[in-house]
Amino acid sequence: MKITLLGTGVAIPQKDRVQSGLVVDAGAQKGNSPVLFDCGCGVLQRIFQSGYKHTDITNVFLSHLHLDHCGDLLALVKANWLCDVTKLNLWGPVGTRQWLDDLLKTYPYMQDKAKIEVTELSPGQVVEVEGLEMECVRTVHALPSLGFKVTAGGKSMLYSGDTEPVVDIIEAIESTGGIDLLIHECSFPDTFDVTNHTTPGTLAKMLRGSSIGRIVLTHLYPQTSGFEARMVKVVAEACGCPVEIGHDLQVIKI
Ligand SMILES: [Zn+2]
Ligand SMILES: [Zn+2]
Repeated sequence: MKITLLGTGVAIPQKDRVQSGLVVDAGAQKGNSPVLFDCGCGVLQRIFQSGYKHTDITNVFLSHLHLDHCGDLLALVKANWLCDVTKLNLWGPVGTRQWLDDLLKTYPYMQDKAKIEVTELSPGQVVEVEGLEMECVRTVHALPSLGFKVTAGGKSMLYSGDTEPVVDIIEAIESTGGIDLLIHECSFPDTFDVTNHTTPGTLAKMLRGSSIGRIVLTHLYPQTSGFEARMVKVVAEACGCPVEIGHDLQVIKI
């Protein structure tokens, strides 16, 4: 499985981080296309920079409907349509269908250009797409949200989306005796008292003793700048596995 971080930032612009997005790829040699998770502003450009073709992305999973996770979705649809690809499978939490309908109403010229099939997902649901098995995990955020545990070829990773630390993520990790990679949001350093998000301290407390091969921190607010080493240390001490700060266009193979 190949994972490419496209955007590791948030709604506030930063020099080297666009908004949320990552691609998971079970392997083109097996006939599978890449699957996109979240599509915040800047992600369409990052798809191009990553070497993937935007026209190959016909499955998009949204963790939730905050703008920094879906702002480029319609831009992707338009880019694909201009290149004669009109089919898109859109997967997301409850509310995704209404959100898309409302969005398309504001761009009437787009309405008959795209054939978007929406599937609303619930925690615990498992779907198979492009050689990947996706298990939806309950997360806790300001609105309906999901994390995704992705398994292929005996390897597994979990992407948290935006969330407070939740036991459901631990349960998903431990249900198969551990995972190879955790990509978890870590929005702020511990000097901030936050709700709806995670800090190194709250993440470390949640993950202590769990079986994870490698952890990549993402969804980094500008306020994390200068705190990176401390953030990594706090999480690594609790988890005993390699921990790093994610960066845009980083490629991880598991
Ligand atoms: Zn959010
Ligand atoms: Zn976010």
